[in-house]
Amino acid sequence: MKRILITGGAGFIGSHLCERLLNEGNEVICLDNYFTGSKQNIKHLFDNHNFELVRHDITSPYFVEVDEIYNLACPASPVHYQYNPIKTVKTSVMGAINVLGLAKRIKAKVLQASTSEVYGDPMVHPQPESYWGNVNPIGLRSCYDEGKRCAETLFMDYHRQNNVNIKIVRIFNTYGPRMNPDDGRVVSNFIVQALQGKDITIYGDGTQTRSFQYVDDLIEVMIRMMNADDNFIGPVNTGNPDEFTMLELAEKIIKLTGTKSEIVFEPLPSDDPKQRRPDITLAKEKLAWEPKIPLEEGLKKTIAYFAKTL
Ligand code: NAD
Ligand code: UDP
Repeated sequence: MKRILITGGAGFIGSHLCERLLNEGNEVICLDNYFTGSKQNIKHLFDNHNFELVRHDITSPYFVEVDEIYNLACPASPVHYQYNPIKTVKTSVMGAINVLGLAKRIKAKVLQASTSEVYGDPMVHPQPESYWGNVNPIGLRSCYDEGKRCAETLFMDYHRQNNVNIKIVRIFNTYGPRMNPDDGRVVSNFIVQALQGKDITIYGDGTQTRSFQYVDDLIEVMIRMMNADDNFIGPVNTGNPDEFTMLELAEKIIKLTGTKSEIVFEPLPSDDPKQRRPDITLAKEKLAWEPKIPLEEGLKKTIAYFAKTL
């Protein structure tokens, strides 16, 4: 049994991670400031005596004795991370410094939830970990992209300078139950719009692509990475290499929900990446992992969740 701290544990991904690690018999401390997460996501865990909930903002130091830390605290949807961009940078950068300082002091292993956004609007396709990216440092998405890039730098420097036991996972677009209906990301937006019979909003002409990973596949690889050999620190990509245009995604969701909603086109947000697909060779080799849940199956589970909760 391990004691594990999950920052951002009341968010979409964090809540699934709390649940899985508790099911495996660990003690879990879930830290969150509820900016985009909610107690609703984890209330089914409250009766478990191995679960603790802490309201805390990771931009301030936090002290606890744990074996492992998963650092997920950071808004992930463009709408939310652009709401207060200075705070987003602080959460990524000061949050990384605070969890790394803690890990150094208590000799804990610490995993960073990084992102495919470190590749920006990529000029190399699909994206391997060796690609340094094409990121605008002064745009509307920079608070998130550069914040996450700086967090990776800090993780590597704490590892080289202080021997902190680190892991970096670069997460590509992930979806599933417990996404916030107002989250603003494409899968939840389209499903909520379809279920409510509202127009389905495609930004731009809908030819931009993304590769969508179901949350259970992500949780599996995050835990495998945490348990991997100490010499394998990453960064390692995780995502589903099946690539779809936003038009294809909208059509799939229309078909699966049987909605009468119509597609409407809205302006493309600035610096919106044109294409994105992970090269997952490294995760296959080092972690014996590949995603198992195809888009249609994951969408059905996510639609069923929203149909029940909306
Ligand atoms: P989310 O917004 O649902 O979860 C983020 C959680 O962090 C929320 O519970 C929020 O309240 C909390 N949080 C935000 N700022 C905080 C702060 N200063 N102190 C404490 N808690 C804070 O998003 P998610 O999709 O669950 O993402 C989780 C992590 O995974 C994020 O770090 C995100 O960057 C990363 N990630 C997610 C995706 C994806 O597609 N979902 C892709 C790449 C990376
Ligand atoms: N998108 C869209 N309609 C929406 C929300 C998003 O067409 O209602 C597009 C968005 O412009 C982007 C893609 O879907 O091209 C994925 O957006 P999301 O915010 O989910 O993630 P990210 O851009 O960070 O990959």
